[in-house]
Amino acid sequence: MIDRFSTIRERMVQEQLVSRGITDERVLDAMRAVPRHLFVDDALQSRAYGDFPLPIAAGQTISQPYIVASMTQALHLSGEEKVLEIGTGSGYQAAVLSRLCAQVYTVERINSLLAGARKVFDTLNYFNIVSKLDDGTLGWPEHGPYDAIMVTAGGPAIPEPLVEQLVEGGRMVIPVGDQYLQTLELVEKTADGVKIMELERVRFVDLVGKHGWQ
Ligand code: SAH
Repeated sequence: MIDRFSTIRERMVQEQLVSRGITDERVLDAMRAVPRHLFVDDALQSRAYGDFPLPIAAGQTISQPYIVASMTQALHLSGEEKVLEIGTGSGYQAAVLSRLCAQVYTVERINSLLAGARKVFDTLNYFNIVSKLDDGTLGWPEHGPYDAIMVTAGGPAIPEPLVEQLVEGGRMVIPVGDQYLQTLELVEKTADGVKIMELERVRFVDLVGKHGWQ
C-alpha cells in the first residue's frame, strides 16, 4: 500500500526489524504493506511506527513492531495455513497474519476493541479475517484444528484448549509468566506431546479468562 507513511514504514522495517534479525522476507513484506497508523487513535498516528507499544482503547496495547514481527516469524507461515489469534485488540497483528496465510480467526473479549478492528478490516478489504467476541482461552473449536496459534496477551500457563485445537506439527506462540513479565514460548505439537522453546522476555497485558487470569 502506498500512502504518506510508506517511507516511514520502510525505515521501521530496516531499523527495527532487519537490524534485529528478522529475516523472513514474507514477514518483512507484510510489515511493509500493512498501514499500522490506521490501527491506532488519530492522535497517535504520527507515532504509530515508533519502536514501542502504544495504548489502544480499554487500557490495552498494540505491541511494538519488533514483537509483532518476531512472533509472526516464529510461526513459519508459508501461505496455506489456517491461523487462530487470541486477543484481536487493534486488529494490527491479525492484519499482518492475514497477509501471510489463507485464513485468520481472531477472538477478542472486549466489544469496543473488536468493533474498531472490524471497521479497519473492512476499510482495507482484509476479507480473510473472521472474528468473534468471546473468551479466547477456550479457543474457537468450530473452525479448528489450526496450523498455527498466536496469543497476544500474557497468561499464567498455556491454555489446554489451545493445545487441543492445534494440528500435529502445528506451532503456537504465547507469552507465559506473571502479570508483570512473561517469557515468549514457542510450542510445537508433535506425535509424542508438546515441545516448548523459550524465545524472549516480553511484557503483555493480561490474558483474562477461564484458562488465564480470573
Ligand atoms: N493483537 C493485538 C494486541 C492487543 S493487546 C493488536 O495487534 O493490537 C491484547 C488483547 O487481548 C486485548 O485487546 C485484550 O482485551 C485481549 N484479551 C485478553 N484476554 C483475552 C481472552 N481471554 N480472549 C480474547 N481476548 C483477550
